[in-house]
This record gives sequence, C-alpha cells and structure tokens, in this order.
Amino acid sequence: MAGQKGSAVDIVVFGVVQGVGFRPFIYRLAHDLGYKGWVKNIGFGVEIHLEDQKQTDFQGFLQALRRNSPPLAQIEETTVKPASFTGREHFEIKKTKQEESFVFISPDISVCENCYTEMMTPSDRRFQYPFINCTDCGPRYTIVQSLPYDRKKTTMKSFLMCPLCRKEYTDPLDRRYHAQPVACPTCGPQVRLLKSKTCKEIEGGIQKAAALLRKGKILAVKGLGGFHLVCDALNSKAVARLRTIKERKRKPLALMAKDLKTIQRFARVSQEERDMLLSQRRPIVLLRKKKDIEGIAPHLDEMGFMLPYTPLHYLLLQDFDLIVATSSNKKDAPIMKQEDEGIDELCDFILTHDRPIHMRADDSVMRVVGRQPLFVRRARGYVPYPQPVPEALHSPHHILALGGELKDTISLYKNGYIITSQFLGDLDEYQNFQYFEETIHHLTKLFQIQPKMVVSDLHPDFHTTRYAQKLKIPHLKVQHHFAHVLAALIEHKYPVGKKVLGVSLDGYGYGEDGTAWGGEFLIADYIGYERFVHFASIPLPGGDLAAKQPWRMALAYLMEAYGENIPTLEAFQKVDPKMIKGVREMIKLHIQTSPVSSCGRLFDAVSFLAGLSPVEMEFEAEAPMRLEAAAADRIRGKYGFEIADHRISFKRTIRAIVEDIRQGVPVSLISAKFHNTLASVIVRVAQRARAIYGIDTVVLVGGVFLNKKLLESASKALESERFHVLRPVRYSPNDESISVGQIAYALMSLLDVDSNAPDKRENQVKKMSGQKPNQP
Ligand SMILES: [Zn+2]
Ligand SMILES: [Zn+2]
Repeated sequence: MAGQKGSAVDIVVFGVVQGVGFRPFIYRLAHDLGYKGWVKNIGFGVEIHLEDQKQTDFQGFLQALRRNSPPLAQIEETTVKPASFTGREHFEIKKTKQEESFVFISPDISVCENCYTEMMTPSDRRFQYPFINCTDCGPRYTIVQSLPYDRKKTTMKSFLMCPLCRKEYTDPLDRRYHAQPVACPTCGPQVRLLKSKTCKEIEGGIQKAAALLRKGKILAVKGLGGFHLVCDALNSKAVARLRTIKERKRKPLALMAKDLKTIQRFARVSQEERDMLLSQRRPIVLLRKKKDIEGIAPHLDEMGFMLPYTPLHYLLLQDFDLIVATSSNKKDAPIMKQEDEGIDELCDFILTHDRPIHMRADDSVMRVVGRQPLFVRRARGYVPYPQPVPEALHSPHHILALGGELKDTISLYKNGYIITSQFLGDLDEYQNFQYFEETIHHLTKLFQIQPKMVVSDLHPDFHTTRYAQKLKIPHLKVQHHFAHVLAALIEHKYPVGKKVLGVSLDGYGYGEDGTAWGGEFLIADYIGYERFVHFASIPLPGGDLAAKQPWRMALAYLMEAYGENIPTLEAFQKVDPKMIKGVREMIKLHIQTSPVSSCGRLFDAVSFLAGLSPVEMEFEAEAPMRLEAAAADRIRGKYGFEIADHRISFKRTIRAIVEDIRQGVPVSLISAKFHNTLASVIVRVAQRARAIYGIDTVVLVGGVFLNKKLLESASKALESERFHVLRPVRYSPNDESISVGQIAYALMSLLDVDSNAPDKRENQVKKMSGQKPNQP
C-alpha cells in the first residue's frame, strides 16, 4: 500500500553472485529480519529492494550480506541507495529475463561441510551418496552446457528429480533451492565399477575399488573435470607401474590425502599452505618434503598434495590414507572425460558414473609464496572466475585472445570483465588443438560473445596465429614478453599511462626482430614497450633439441665464456663425446644455431654444469626445477656479471661457477649463489630504470618466476631498495597468462585517447580491420 510510512533501500551487488545460491540467501536473510521487497538477477550481479515499516538503516542486513554470503559468491562491489517505500507485503525472488544478464558461472567447488555431514549420517537419505551437493557446493563449470544456468542446460538434464529432491529444489528456504545438480540415490547419478579390459561391470562399487587399490591395482576414477589415474601412493610397485603406463619416468605425480594430518606426515605445511589445501577450490599445493615417498617426485624437494574434493573422493578415501591422483591423459594430450577416449589402456579398473562431464578441466596446481598463491596451473576451482578490468580501459566490444602455443589458455572480454579458460596444454599436439577449438566454441556461446577483434602472438607459425587469421575480423598481434607484463598490469588494475619495469623471464618467445627472446627487461605501459635491457644472445645449437638437452646450452655458455679452450667438467661424462664434438663444431661454425636471449636456457646450462640435470629432460623445466630444489637457504653470496650496451653478459658468472665446481663447492651453495646473482641482476637493472625513467614499480613475470627461490629473493632485494613489486596472483606467471595480456593490449588499442565515445571506438575497429598483419 503506497503512501504508508516506512524506510526502503535499493542495493546492487556486483560480482559472481548468480547461480551460487545468492538470491535464496538474500531471501532467507530478508525473511529472518522481517523485511519486505524483492531480489533479482541483473547483468553482473543482483539487485535488492528492501522495505521496512519502521525507521531503519538496514545496517544489520548489509553486514550479514558481506559476512555470511554463500561460499561460492565473490562480491566485487556493493552500492546502496535510498529508495521510496511502497508498502510491499512480501519478499520475493523475481524471475530474470534472459537477455538482461551476462551471467558469471561459478567454478566447480568441493563438497561443503553441511553436505559432508549429511553424507556421513546413517539416517540421512543421502548417506554415503557420492553425488550429494547443494547451492554452496558441487559441480558447476564442468557440467554447464549453455546458459541461463538451469538444470535443463547442464549434464544433469537426463535425471528426473524425485518428489523429495524437487521439494528441496523449489523451496526458497531450503539450502538446495535451485541447486541445479541436486540429486539423491533414488533419482540421481550412480557409480559403476568396470573391469577395464572387458568394460564389464563388477559388484562392490566404491568399497571394492578401495580394496583393489590396496591390492596394488591402477584405477581410473571419474572426477569433476576428467578422470584421474589412481593407485596406492605408498605401494612403490604400483607407482612404478603407473609411470610405465603413463610413459612418465620422472615427472612428479600428484597425491590426494585423506586429511591434513596425513599430508603433515610427509610434508611441511605452513599456515597459508594449510588454508590453500583446505579452501573449497581444492588445488594441488606443492609442499616441501618432510618424508620422501618413493617414485612420486624424484630429484625434487617438493611433492604436490590435494585433499578430496568430490563426495566420491571422500568415500574412496574413507579407509585409505594416500593415493596418487594424476590426470588421465596419454602423453601431452588433454585429460580424458569419457570412458571411450582410451582410458581402458591406462588402468586395470574404472570407477565411473553416469553424470557426463561437459567441459574438461585439470586440477589447479600452486605454490604459496609470501602468503599468496603462485599458480603453476590454473584450472579446476578457479575457472571461469572473471577478472575485472580498470574502468579507463572498458570497451563496448567483445574481444577474443588466443594466447601463445605452449601452456595455452584463451581469454574473452565483455562488459568490463576478462574470462580466461582453463589450461589447455601445448597446441602443437593435435588433440590439444581440438580442445582449444572446443573451448573457444563453448565459452563464446556460454558468455554470448561475438568477438569484434582477435588477438594473437607475433609468431607467424603458431597455430593460434593462423587460427586468428582465418577468423576474418580485425587481428592484433602482441609480442610475447610484453603480453606477460600486460597480464600483470591488468590483473592489478595498474593505472593507464604509468610506466613500469617489466622483468619478463622465460624459455622462449618470438621477438620483434624475429629472434628468440626470453631474458627481457621492458620499460612498458599499456600502450607499448621499449626493450630496455636483455640477456646477451647465446647460440642455441640444434634448435628444439637444445631446449630438451641442457648439455648443449651448457656447451654454448662455456664456449662463450672461454672460447675454444673450454675446461673439462665431470657433468659432460654422461654425454657421448662424438655428440659433444659435433655440437662444438655447430657453435663454432654457426650451423643450425640461432641466437637466444632466454633465461630458461641459462638455468638449463647452470643445472647441467652443476651435475644436476639429466642428459635429456623428460618434461619442461626439469633441469631448472632440480637446480632450484638444490639451493641452500640463507646464503648471501653471489657471482659477478656485466651489463653493457643494454645487454647482460653471464660470462663472468659461468667462469665463477666452473671455478666453484672445480674447487668442490657444494651444489647447494652454487645453486643459491646463482639464484642470488639473478636477483641482483634484476635490482641493478631496476636501479637503472629508476635513474633514467623515474620508475618505481617492477613487474616479475614469465615462467621463470614459478621458481619460488628466485621470486622470493628478487622481491626481497627489490623491496629493500624501495621498489614496488607486482607479480601475478590470480594467474600463472607462465604462458597461461599470455591471453590475458593480449586482451589488455586490444583494450588499449580500442581506446580512443581523445574521446571514449562509442562511435569513435567503432571507427578505431574499422581502421584496424584494414591493417596488415604485423609481420616483424
Ligand atoms: Zn553442499
Ligand atoms: Zn532425489
């Protein structure tokens, strides 16, 4: 009854608040406090109208909204405005018109406490049911086929709800109100245990599966984003067999432990690491070894642990402490999501179920550095969480960025937000390229994105670059190391127009001059960059082979430092002398050698010289990872280096390392001193940048900064010189973030400096469509 006295407010909440039980939460909150009004979804958030007949400021409501919001909700911003009192009689959840919203989808989230308790309560109707979930937990991203987020548009569509489930689903006061994957033993998915050879079902379900693991069998277990290959982690024979099947001799295997206590038996766990392990996103966290487990992470000082995240995992680990849980894929191919993708060749038994996986997603992997995550791989649990963009860069256009080639992701831009895909792998593998195409198709459909512009790397031979050319829309190209820096700038909402020193260190990226870059110090802002200082180029003998066989780089560095008369070192005894002779000739005569300024290759060389690297690496960064693992803590010493003519030369460093090796200095010390040397190089260049450009912010990006020791020592050294250090926290510093940086570049290009008027931006796009591809 309008005209009555009372108070009212309109509240808008921005962020990931749709499809996460936010409206029913608001409904219950308003109900409890006796307020009338309504809540509805709008683009990017929800709008709430509250009324009360008494004079009130609604502060209690606002506090509860911030403090008790559902676990899956991510509130970016809340605005509150006074509204007029209309005398409403109820509080209601208003229906959403589809075209109004750009709906964010929640990532997949581990089973919540309430559901876990129910699952463990014998009297509960979902006792021991492996698909229990509610609005606060369960699968999301991996089961959504299209939007709006509704059961009909998920892989749960074929399961008809029983009356009890339907009652929960339709009751706004129930915690399963509109929980799309809601299910129970009567109406929901069921587990099946299959013999892999015959695909015949066998009796016993999860309990039998656990018994098989105890006998040393290898199982494929269907999770959220794909199958894991699982075996008893403490049975070294089973682990060795799993390695043979997966064709992985040394690459670390992830572990899933029953509980935190089990993890603490084998690894040191800090407070922050504990929080990360227990977080609902349930990443794999790399932890310092306390008690080594044979065959899990040979030659390294860390093991990757995670806690169970689906009800099925919990049930499997009920009386089992520790399992290997590694992605089920054939070498370099994407994680498998269906039984018919060849899973039977990788295991003895298959523990599967009939809720299909729509989108593949690997487990996320991280380290904790300085209390914050450092993503090694960003996927399940974090995707597709949106990244807000600084307002100055907003554009009305949709953008698609394709990333690089290795460790690829794609990113999409719409209405002020970037959405980045899960890790897609190396696109020179055909199956991964299919996965890449599948993901573009899925995400553009899901978020209703019609790209007006596509962005790729500069490299003319990348599959992504060719894919971009075929789209026949304006196409921008961005240099690899610049894209790394841009990704960090946009993640931290760094202001437009301010310059930073971007320290972009990695294995390889195509440079503006057509050579391979990878030890780059760029003076950069959103508009462009200057190659301020870089590692002196070194010949890469044998191209791709040199990236796999660190001894080749070690030889190249030795010849650079000593000329013809290189010293004899024990490390080279592992290598065929004929091969060494051949490579020396190659370097001398410049045959099949191309110059690289890569930091990754320097790590390879030093790791090999120190006797830590294998002759051939099995996986990327194996040699650098061993070098890092060997480094002693709390060492202050470092080696010399030279900076002249914008180039950093490591001749002195190499000579000093060789001297240390000959003197019998322990590898742990050599490695620590090498890490300190690089930190000191970074500080020295930063001081130059400050002197010349007045720059105080240093951005640390590129795959090399997955190295915790280097990241920590460089950050510390920079901070003690009063530099402000930025590094990726929401994204990986490695090539997974290239697509994010590409979006930033496109947004800057779309920005008309004189005016933000949409018509002018339109012209800008048209102008770009006529542009020739930016061939270096
Ligand atoms: Zn739950
Ligand atoms: Zn049911």
